Amino acid sequence: MANIENINVNPELPLSSRLKRFKAYGAPVVDVELKMNTNENPYQLPEEVKTEILAALALELPDLNRYPDRLQGELRIEIAKYLSKITQVPINSNQAWAANGSNEILNQILLAFYDPGVKAMGFTPSYSMHQILSEQNGYQYVNIERRSDFSIDLALALDKIQSEKPRIIFIASPNNPTGNVTKQYELVEILKIAKNSIVIFDEAYGEFSSEPSAVNLIAQYPQLIVTRTMSKAFAFAGARVGYAIAQAETLAALGLVRLPYHLSTQTQVLAKVALRNFEVLQMQVQQIIKDRKFMQQALENMGLSVIPSDANFFLFGRFKSSQKAFEALLNVSILVRDVGIDGFLRATVPTTAGAHLFIKELGALLDNREIELS
Ligand SMILES: *Cc1c(COP(=O)(O)O)cnc(C)c1O
Repeated sequence: MANIENINVNPELPLSSRLKRFKAYGAPVVDVELKMNTNENPYQLPEEVKTEILAALALELPDLNRYPDRLQGELRIEIAKYLSKITQVPINSNQAWAANGSNEILNQILLAFYDPGVKAMGFTPSYSMHQILSEQNGYQYVNIERRSDFSIDLALALDKIQSEKPRIIFIASPNNPTGNVTKQYELVEILKIAKNSIVIFDEAYGEFSSEPSAVNLIAQYPQLIVTRTMSKAFAFAGARVGYAIAQAETLAALGLVRLPYHLSTQTQVLAKVALRNFEVLQMQVQQIIKDRKFMQQALENMGLSVIPSDANFFLFGRFKSSQKAFEALLNVSILVRDVGIDGFLRATVPTTAGAHLFIKELGALLDNREIELS
């Protein structure tokens, strides 16, 4: 079957000049034994959650001829309840807003706060979609280099915010692909300076981190939008649910640009059930954190370095050639991600069995020198 991502757009069509230099985004799709390249939760939904989802869907089927709840009222209540519980910060449903993955949330924010000539700013290396979505929405993207330990150089950041005046500032914490967090006092310093910006604090991996969520800051900072997703911790990547937490008067801007009925009835049903069962799903999160620590230790014992991570993935190296290491792993049916950081690869924590297999296979590749460290 033809893959639309590999077909060039007819050059005679008036494609937007913003898009001329873009390639369709996406990780390679390869059928492998160990899929460790897109930071999904490797476990299936627990059986009891699957059963409850089916029952809840059956109840909604008679109403599928009607448009979904445009205000996603019940879902926003469940999101607020869940986050209030895990963060101990009281959040009400007017401060929550959901869409088809947090990528759609990011897109709604970019659309809502756009004007010709505006800039967006991020701290590289970081999640590449921040830049891609910004540029596709007409923003000029300003990339500020992180320090060699991947932390944000706060003095430089504050300086650049004042000189570049970005309309939107992106901070992913834990950061993808590096796994490290931005501390809350650093975010506060940025919020104090960035009075005329929208600050997106992307907590896609928040559940895996020991750093507290930034949702406690929304009461004080109208320009702060915390974004989160059910794709990673909730074993829900296929369901496509992400959400934003901010003041109601901030989220109202997203209401202006969301497509009519953007969140389907079935998506809302699935998400509500999963959120109500968060305690069962958190057990998978605890296992993944345990296995991340186990893998980090095992890799270090084998002479590799692992960048300390607060997420469900980590950067590991240092390889003579990350490309050769990537290919050697793929040859034994292990798919990781080459994120363009010299000498390093990114690996998603797999199942516990997968973690042991990964260590064994990587050990063998090092022993017979198919992978070389620098
Ligand atoms: C995975 C990821 C997302 C969003 O994923 P969705 O599936 O669209 O919710 C957002 N930000 C970061 C940093 C991510 O790694």
